[in-house]
Amino acid sequence: MDKEKLDAFKKRLEARQRDLRQAINRTAQDGRDAVLESAQDIGDRATNSYDKEFLFHQSNNERQFLQMVEGALDGIRDGVFGQCVSCGNEINPKRLEAVPWTRHCIACQEKLEQGRDAIGLPGQNMLSRERRKWAGSLTASSL
Ligand SMILES: [Zn+2]
Repeated sequence: MDKEKLDAFKKRLEARQRDLRQAINRTAQDGRDAVLESAQDIGDRATNSYDKEFLFHQSNNERQFLQMVEGALDGIRDGVFGQCVSCGNEINPKRLEAVPWTRHCIACQEKLEQGRDAIGLPGQNMLSRERRKWAGSLTASSL
């Protein structure tokens, strides 16, 4: 990748990194406020724990995102930016343009997502339901 392009990505990533850091600080501050409020108003505890949970998840996502952005910036420094961490192939420029913090080429990303989905695959659940039904009828008929 030429230096000009790399610089443009670096600027975009650095801007995103700044935004995320600010957002994380804000969320942390909101979380502290929520704790303070709950100490003052016990009657509102239910809403508050919901808020805290929401803030927790939000800051978790932001942190994960920040890690990806910082990983991409590391990649720029190390000269491996734009390479898939799984197969080492170059990531499609259009994909990189859309998600510069991505670490995988589209093929590896799809493989990863398929692997994740396979755990809760509806087809497998149906299969095990069918199997249970079958086992159930077997027990019933053999009784
Ligand atoms: Zn790959």
